[in-house]
Amino acid sequence: MRWGTYEASYHNLPRVLNTLCERNPGSYFEIKHYNLPHDPTKHVLRRAFFVLGACINAFQDRRPVICIDGTFLTGRYKGTMPTAIAADGNNRVRTGTARYWFLERIKSCIVRDRRDVRVIHDRHGGIMQAVQDLREGSVQRQRTPKWVDLKSRWCMRHMGANFRSGSRRPCSRNQEKKFNVLWKKLDEHTKKRGAELRSRGVNAEDEEPIAMENVGVDGPNAWSFDQVFFEWIEHEPKEKWALLHDEGGARYGIMTTNLAEVYNRVLRGERSMPLVGIVEFYIYRTTQYFRERYPKAEKVFKDHRLIYGQKFFEYMDKANKKAAGHRVRNMGVAEHRFEVLCRDKGRRGGNHERHVQECVLYNNHCVCSCHKPRLYHRPCTHVIAACQEAGGLNAHMFVSPYYMKDAIYHTWKSEIYGFAMVGNFTEIPMVPPISYPILTPT
Ligand SMILES: [Zn+2]
Repeated sequence: MRWGTYEASYHNLPRVLNTLCERNPGSYFEIKHYNLPHDPTKHVLRRAFFVLGACINAFQDRRPVICIDGTFLTGRYKGTMPTAIAADGNNRVRTGTARYWFLERIKSCIVRDRRDVRVIHDRHGGIMQAVQDLREGSVQRQRTPKWVDLKSRWCMRHMGANFRSGSRRPCSRNQEKKFNVLWKKLDEHTKKRGAELRSRGVNAEDEEPIAMENVGVDGPNAWSFDQVFFEWIEHEPKEKWALLHDEGGARYGIMTTNLAEVYNRVLRGERSMPLVGIVEFYIYRTTQYFRERYPKAEKVFKDHRLIYGQKFFEYMDKANKKAAGHRVRNMGVAEHRFEVLCRDKGRRGGNHERHVQECVLYNNHCVCSCHKPRLYHRPCTHVIAACQEAGGLNAHMFVSPYYMKDAIYHTWKSEIYGFAMVGNFTEIPMVPPISYPILTPT
């Protein structure tokens, strides 16, 4: 076998990770063993955490959002391989390596002192507890608060799919399609319910919440799935699931852990391999990501006419064209406040319906009744149109720095060194297995 036996791989994992840490400055690994009760001289691998220095550096230039998803290891190993992904301004993905132990390491090695980092997860019980313990600590579990500003958001697709099937693996395309339909309906439902509640007065929201397990879609009097889902979700904290209620735009518009799942799909074929093979695959795959993205980021970086990454440039180009079709009326006296008349997509009775948004431009931020600048950290078409009306102000000042070409260039410019030239790590080593120091992040 190319990577040796599964047993040899257990023994070699610390050596491989140590080699990678020596060759890639800023990298970090940690391994947890337990001793066999009937033979305390034998150590059994329990957990491993590894992150490349290149990925830690890259995270500093990314949007402060981390998507968590776990892929199950198959083959001889039992357990899961959690993966953390952060998105750059171009929606490219990145990995590190569940639950409390995993998140604690994410905090100490990757997030460190960076503030306002959000975690998007599949709402699996273990992760909800882990998030709470990291933020508030737990006397029962003897945990101290380690990540007090940690805020989490739920992955909308997992929620829809879990509710529908009880499955935790909503990976298939079919599920994705169903989710998109559900999401659209939920959006319409939220708007409709909001209008209903407003018309019923201030106490209308004081209804008894329904527990998720107490609602059902079976039986002769059953509601439709969508009704049940909507009834349930409405009583859950809105900032966790509704984009519109995303306080501070914490999600940057990212509603699902898709980015993490995409990476795990790639790993699916490799998760039955011996551990050394999995690490090799992770290194090669990560290198490939960097190698594919760097030339494109470099090209844009060196072009002095450009200021954004490619994807964002395309967004601004489209938004500028759409903004040219809006009509703007200056309404502010001391404020830079505007009414923006836009042409709606839908037609009613053969006429284009017009609707109005209101935006206010400040020195370093803008506010629009469409909420998009707050949720996505970029100017909407209404703000762009208002900027033009305000004597050609540059909407560029309302763009988050994460979308700038410099940030994307710095994300992908680190070098990654593999372990193959040091050895193939296929034989059981003759020296004791745990002879390496645990490295601390630098
Ligand atoms: Zn707007």
